[in-house]
Amino acid sequence: MVAERAPRYNPAEIELRWQEVWESQPELYAAEPPDCGKQKYYVLEMLPYPSGQLHMGHVRNYAIGDALARHMWMRGYNVLHPMGWDAFGLPAENAALKNNTPPRDWTLANIAAMRRQMGRLGLSYDWQREITTCLPEYYRWNQWFFLKMYERGLAYRKNSKVNWCPQCATVLANEQVVNGCCWRHEETVVEQRELEQWFLRTTNYSEELLRGLDKLEGWPEKVRTMQRNWIGRSEGALVDFTVVNEEKDERGPRSAPVKLNLTEKFLETDPEAAKITVFTTRIDTIFGATSLQLAAEHPLVLQFAAGSEELAKKIKDLHEEQKRAREMGVGNEMDKSGFPTGHFAINPFSKERIPIWVANYVLMDYGTGAVMSVPAHDERDFEFAAKYKLETKIVVLPRQVNDVAGEQREPLLPYTGEDSLLMNSGEFTGMGCQEAQQKMAGFAEEHGFGKPSITYRLKDWGISRQRYWGTPIPIIYCATDGLVPVPEEHLPVLLPEKIDITQEGGSPLARVPEFARVVCPKCGGIARRETDTMDTFVDSSWYFYRYTDPKNSHAPFGTNTVAYWFPIDQYIGGVEHAILHLIYSRFWTKMMRDLGLVKNDEPVERLFTQGMVIRNGAKMSKSKGNVVSPDDMIARYGADATRMYALFAAPPDRDLDWQEDGVAGISRFLGRVYRFATQTMEQAIEGRAKPTPAGLTDIEQRLLRKLHQTIRRLTQEFEGRWHFNTCIAAIMELVNDLTAQEAAIAKGAVRAPVLYAITRNLVLMLQAFAPYLAAELWSKMGEETPLLRAAWPVYDEAMAAEDTIQVPVQVNGKLRALISVPAGTAEAELRAAAMAEVKVQAAIAGKEVVKVIVLPGKLVNLVVLAGSVAAPPPDAV
Ligand SMILES: [Zn+2]
Ligand SMILES: [Zn+2]
Repeated sequence: MVAERAPRYNPAEIELRWQEVWESQPELYAAEPPDCGKQKYYVLEMLPYPSGQLHMGHVRNYAIGDALARHMWMRGYNVLHPMGWDAFGLPAENAALKNNTPPRDWTLANIAAMRRQMGRLGLSYDWQREITTCLPEYYRWNQWFFLKMYERGLAYRKNSKVNWCPQCATVLANEQVVNGCCWRHEETVVEQRELEQWFLRTTNYSEELLRGLDKLEGWPEKVRTMQRNWIGRSEGALVDFTVVNEEKDERGPRSAPVKLNLTEKFLETDPEAAKITVFTTRIDTIFGATSLQLAAEHPLVLQFAAGSEELAKKIKDLHEEQKRAREMGVGNEMDKSGFPTGHFAINPFSKERIPIWVANYVLMDYGTGAVMSVPAHDERDFEFAAKYKLETKIVVLPRQVNDVAGEQREPLLPYTGEDSLLMNSGEFTGMGCQEAQQKMAGFAEEHGFGKPSITYRLKDWGISRQRYWGTPIPIIYCATDGLVPVPEEHLPVLLPEKIDITQEGGSPLARVPEFARVVCPKCGGIARRETDTMDTFVDSSWYFYRYTDPKNSHAPFGTNTVAYWFPIDQYIGGVEHAILHLIYSRFWTKMMRDLGLVKNDEPVERLFTQGMVIRNGAKMSKSKGNVVSPDDMIARYGADATRMYALFAAPPDRDLDWQEDGVAGISRFLGRVYRFATQTMEQAIEGRAKPTPAGLTDIEQRLLRKLHQTIRRLTQEFEGRWHFNTCIAAIMELVNDLTAQEAAIAKGAVRAPVLYAITRNLVLMLQAFAPYLAAELWSKMGEETPLLRAAWPVYDEAMAAEDTIQVPVQVNGKLRALISVPAGTAEAELRAAAMAEVKVQAAIAGKEVVKVIVLPGKLVNLVVLAGSVAAPPPDAV
């Protein structure tokens, strides 16, 4: 008789076989309809851009989501776990140009390749709900939403700056600007041009987007903070400064240098004169404003420049400087500089005449393009005033200085504290800053030169892209009727497929007459289509709603279906999407709610941002040569080992340093599981459907205890912090305990029902992390229903509890008590339990404990100073 050889774990053979089975059963991972009576669970990983290759970051992201989805299925939920493709965007156009492949073909081929990779990984996606954003059945709804927003004034056109390459004669995306030059013309400096573009009024929801963050308790705090900062709410006031009309000013010729005298008062201001509106969060310091600083693009500055060549030249120089700084990529760190315009304005509070400057740090597209400069009480103004020797006037003093000394000592400047009192501020002198802020904003409003105001850093969302591979914006321009929205029944506006992508000479769509020329739906005349396409963030702002009803051809989705599935219970993705994608998605949800399409205010209940996958200390990237391909890992170690390693090597929220040795280690571990389970399978199966025998042996008890502890650990981690690394470690410990008893088990030391229970539960737990191996062992157990339909194991607290053990407690070497504690009690707890024991307390009463020696599980010895009591020899115990 030939000795039976130990079965060998062959992941490729097992995995390919099961992959085929799963792919032939699309209903396996299909979500059930809303009326199935089960509680729903919507788990979602962010949809990828179809580059053609999954990277390890994807594998990690999907392994986390997949473990959770499988766990929730086994907990009896109706799970929705879909996948799709964020398929529009620039890389397809670049690839088209490079390889002469149409963007659609390139994209669809990449999708097919990545879908294959996902299949090989054994991910539990409901492929019947797959969406591809570049296909008309999806993007027509982008157009539909656009029309709805246009009707409601939420989509509008305005002039805005774009990157323009004069060589290409086209607009460049930000990522096509390399060191300030065109990516294709490395010598050509990219210009800023004004173009009319489409915007969505995200700012209508600024306040709600901000307030809503307070309720998103299932989101990482860092993401909420990033969004708060991005929305950037500041409370303050708008104040109008009146420009002094030099013609009417008796003070002399307009360009003569005027020595500023802050005691001069202009009580009368000219109602016809131009106004400069500033926004300030510190109106309480306005008596200390000694100049106004305007953006170079401020309309008034342009007006001044029209009357002065010198000024025009300075402005031109400033633009050049800003442009150079942008090219160097140091736009934000530019030295602050500026120059006076020679004009003046009146401070409406102090009635003082202050100079108007142009400053390079004031931007027209932020706030009003003008700020008041209060050097004494603002860091930046102080720095600027010091450089140009502008007057500094203290109008706020710390309370302490006033109160204690009774005299006004000057604080160190700039003094920006707000727990302070006003001085030199007319009728507001003596008020606290906060009170003054309210009173002064009210005063400005009463007198018609200002009002309280709240500003946000958040801007409206510019969605126009002068590109081909995106959703066409459904607007027609007619010479007679002006701007005409495409009628809803004409949707979708199809993106033409056969086009010549040169990335030169403007939008490629403008050069496709069949597309660009159109019959005006109003007058029937020949009109022109909008040739801009939409930002791809539009696609990803609502895609997860479409998953709930992906085939709907009458609406983006059914409202009742969405009401069942939303909000998403768990969204998982990279923290790099913390701002744009997640703010746009939240905006889109609020907009759809206001259209009556959804009932939820927020799209995502809980958000998880996984850490990066790094290697040799750096993010994996081609340029660093440290990329590990998932295909390689799968070929060498199998999909189970690759996925399981991605969960084992670090807690999911931390960065993971990829070590191939680690993957090999996981593969060996899975091999041990396979070998053990296979060898003991026959023995275990005999115990199926039989009750646990009474009177467990010591070894049975220990193994069952470990089993229940492992189930408890996994259950708690899935419900809590998702430290799957410790879950996998716990499974490893269980398997170690099992294999340590292999010989005893072979001899029947563990009875069949016990062995069966252990094997079955081990397989159930494994399926969250290593679904292929779990499926293989499940079928070897003779199970025919899918593992996913089995219930998640339930732990028994009593079974999981450690036995109690008795530990002797000595005082100076003499046995005083035996205490009962759970086995495995840690040192600190054991020590506390010993000290609390009545007999021990009696023995040490009135004596000084100088040392406590704890041998966990064995002994506690207290050394006390006790007058003449000498320690007996140890053998006296
Ligand atoms: Zn160029
Ligand atoms: Zn018309």
